[in-house]
Amino acid sequence: MSEDIVKKLASGELKLHQADENASTRREAVDMRREAVERITGTDLSSIGKYSYDPEVVTRKNIENAIGAVQIPLGIAGPIAINGEYAKGDFYLPLATTEGALVASVNRGCSVCRASGGVAAAVLQDEMTRAPVVKAKNLKEARRLAEAVKTPELFAEMRAIAGTTTKHGELLRVDPYVVGRSVFLRLAFDTKDAMGMNMVTIASDAIMRSLEKKFDVKLVALSSNMCTDKKPAAINVIEGRGRTTVAEVIVPRKIIVEKLRATPEDMCDVNYRKNFLGSARAVSFGFNAQVANIVAAMYIACGQDPAHVVEGSNAITSAEMDGEDLHFSVSFPSLPLGTVGGGTGLATQSECLSLLGVRGGGNPPGSNARKFAEIVASAGLAGELSLLGALASQDLAKAHAKYGR
Ligand code: NAP
Repeated sequence: MSEDIVKKLASGELKLHQADENASTRREAVDMRREAVERITGTDLSSIGKYSYDPEVVTRKNIENAIGAVQIPLGIAGPIAINGEYAKGDFYLPLATTEGALVASVNRGCSVCRASGGVAAAVLQDEMTRAPVVKAKNLKEARRLAEAVKTPELFAEMRAIAGTTTKHGELLRVDPYVVGRSVFLRLAFDTKDAMGMNMVTIASDAIMRSLEKKFDVKLVALSSNMCTDKKPAAINVIEGRGRTTVAEVIVPRKIIVEKLRATPEDMCDVNYRKNFLGSARAVSFGFNAQVANIVAAMYIACGQDPAHVVEGSNAITSAEMDGEDLHFSVSFPSLPLGTVGGGTGLATQSECLSLLGVRGGGNPPGSNARKFAEIVASAGLAGELSLLGALASQDLAKAHAKYGR
């Protein structure tokens, strides 16, 4: 580490990002920048300096002005037995969280699922969306574009243009929305094993450049809020975004009584009043108890974009009687995730994906991401079972007092 460079960074003679070009390795740049920030702020950052990712790769692809890493404790729940289309077998679930009682809660749900013969899961739709907005000359031109993109000829052209920007991505459909003279084109892509936001943004840009040449329209923003990325939006709930996934289990009455100290009827009543009536009264998009907890913990553990918890929290938990037993399911209309790209290559995150048997590209492409979606949905279901059970048996406060404080 060069004392001279650290001094220049600390005094402002060099900008913090210039540590990269003034160091012999990226690790040295990270160290010098952290040392400079310590001196500027008078703060000890020695814990932040202990990390396991490879700065040569990560500081080029994942982070700017790196100074180290924050650590989030990682717990393990399970195994959970899943009989999905792609996920088959027992899975140990990595959960990164600081919320006491969360891992224990999911673990309890996994035990209920195991005792019930396992979870069925399926990805029903698989589309990542980007929705550029253009300004047309007038309503007539706006309508001309909206109608033209639905024709097989123009759609084939748009598909071919997308294909020049990506080997794996595929344009599947386009949904136009006209507002005055603005046209929003919600472009939906198969992104195989990638979550796909970079991939579809690059493909959408190429498509829009070509449409600008054919129509009297001007691209205003490559991303309008009709995508809708990382914001609560009904369109994601209705049309789906990312992997639209459902997980289901039938829990025998005996298991509910033994493991959750509740009855199927109580579980249905809690679900109805809390997740349906309560969510309806609050006009919430989350008709569930805690799926965001599980989605967040698994996304952070497995290198997903944590901001996509916004979409992942849009789940509907359903509980109904099936004879004497409980039919229980969680439906995720919008679960953006991937097993390649983004943060999936970082050392610890990649180990978590390996633990689930979904690291990297699948064979065939897309199969790893779908398997991962089925696992996340099943983990969410385990969390729902456990929390609704704790509410039904009036044990919630007791559990938090024991584990969470
Ligand atoms: P990416 O890391 O940008 O790209 C992943 C690339 O991996 C794909 O483009 C693909 O290349 C390649 N690939 C190799 N094997 C593959 C396989 N089996 N399936 C699919 N692709 C495969 O990742 P991304 O998923 O497109 O984007 C994720 C990143 O976007 C995250 O870091 C996220 O935080 C960020 N993000 C971006 C935006 C935005 O607006 N740009 C918005 C939200 C989040 P080919 O395309 O050549 O096939």
